[in-house]
Amino acid sequence: MRPDLDVTVVGSVNVDLVATVAALPLPGETVPALDYAQFIGGKGSNQAIAAARLGRAVAFVGLVGDDREGTAVRGALAAEGVDVTYLEVCEGVPTGRAIVLVDGTAENSIVVVGGANQSLGPRHIEAAGEVVRRARVVVSQLEIPLDAVSAAARTCEGTFILNPAPARSLPRELLDLVDVLVVNEVEYEAVTGAALPDDVDDLERAVREPGMPPGVVVTLGARGAYVWDGEQVAHVAAPRVKVVDTTGAGDTFIGALADALSRGEELRSAVQWAVRAGAAAVRSLGATTGMPTPEQVQALTA
Ligand code: ATP
Repeated sequence: MRPDLDVTVVGSVNVDLVATVAALPLPGETVPALDYAQFIGGKGSNQAIAAARLGRAVAFVGLVGDDREGTAVRGALAAEGVDVTYLEVCEGVPTGRAIVLVDGTAENSIVVVGGANQSLGPRHIEAAGEVVRRARVVVSQLEIPLDAVSAAARTCEGTFILNPAPARSLPRELLDLVDVLVVNEVEYEAVTGAALPDDVDDLERAVREPGMPPGVVVTLGARGAYVWDGEQVAHVAAPRVKVVDTTGAGDTFIGALADALSRGEELRSAVQWAVRAGAAAVRSLGATTGMPTPEQVQALTA
């Protein structure tokens, strides 16, 4: 039993292999890399690191492969203070990878190798037991199989946050178990089957429809976010910042939302915190480098 557990992330871990090229290769073409770097990635892992940087006790439920990358990402998460007891090693499969090509205009092509992430299932959620059941907040995304996400949602007795990314439609049974749905514009459309309304009143009508979760948050990049808390839709503006790299902004937002909700904040003020955390993150290069500490979020005023 871990009454001290704030946030449990049930999700993906990847190694991002990033090659910078002058121009993305055409089919059949081979091009030299101008630069190459490896980063720890995956939406689950990024969101866990964001919440840990903000001071929460975070546990991770997921799978890595029995390779060097798996050992490295487990070590990197542990170094961030994330409890990796239930980040298990899966024999005979590679750790998830994202093979990323970026050209001089920041246009990219990405191939995701699901690897060990694809083997996560309900039995792993069951094995983690109390860590999922008793966390104040459980966070999940869709880079792992849907039956693992559904098992986490059924097991969680706290607040269940779902970030349906990569975007896809969701079974009604899963949506019914979600307390707070966090989507960007593309994910909103995939989940609801309709474009994101242009104004707050139309959005309020849409989220009042039966079948929508009690909390809905729509992130809007530099424009901040909309939040539906069951009573009204509010727009939360983002502070103006000097943008260096927006990679990981969405994951920082979700980690910060989980942080604030696990501290007992209301959804609306949690979104105000998360918007500032997301804005803080875009000031640095890389998905996790710019993930802020509480002091850095506090220093940013809207
Ligand atoms: P990604 O997949 O690139 O991580 P996303 O589409 O999931 O992002 P966004 O809506 O782009 O998520 O960004 C999430 C949050 O990050 C925003 O709600 C906002 O708080 C912050 N943010 C993103 N871009 C900017 C920006 N240019 N200026 C200020 N804040 C930003």
